Amino acid sequence: MNNAQDNNESQLVRTEIEEYAPLFDEETGEYTDVCPYEKYSRGQNKVYSCPCICGRTLNNRQQFLQHFKTKAHANWLKNMGKDGNVKLIKELRIENGKKDNKIRLQARHMKRLLKNIEMLEKELSVTKKANSEILKYKNDVITDLQDNIKLLEEATGHSIEYDNGDALDYDNDNALPWSWDLSTTGDH
Ligand SMILES: [Zn+2]
Repeated sequence: MNNAQDNNESQLVRTEIEEYAPLFDEETGEYTDVCPYEKYSRGQNKVYSCPCICGRTLNNRQQFLQHFKTKAHANWLKNMGKDGNVKLIKELRIENGKKDNKIRLQARHMKRLLKNIEMLEKELSVTKKANSEILKYKNDVITDLQDNIKLLEEATGHSIEYDNGDALDYDNDNALPWSWDLSTTGDH
């Protein structure tokens, strides 16, 4: 409700009532009383009601400071700290449970990934072995060809002129060791 007030009147019409709430100390988990009215302030428009058992309304600093000292209020404040802690523990338990579930899920995911890695590593080693066999076979074929060329040259008296103008490309496994020109030199 909005307060309908007229500052010209000597008595303020106060219709706004707010519930007083102590300050929560995150470090200690306890509640402490803090008067909502500043020192030496008077004539504030807000009226407070305290939720403690007294159920009274308070409208100035003096009243608040006196009320804070009452046994009923002090007990209420103490229990509020306890209730707050119980609530906090419950919240933390829920949060903890959620985190546990998340961790379990991630662990399962991780296990799957590790299995995949293991499989890929096996595949890689098989491929590597196959590749090295192919390379060896390629080199054997080249050696055979070179031997055959030699025999052919000896048998015919012709020699093959190699064109070594191109740079050898050893990095490329598919490249021939050199490019050659099968033209004969001696024309018989
Ligand atoms: Zn109170």
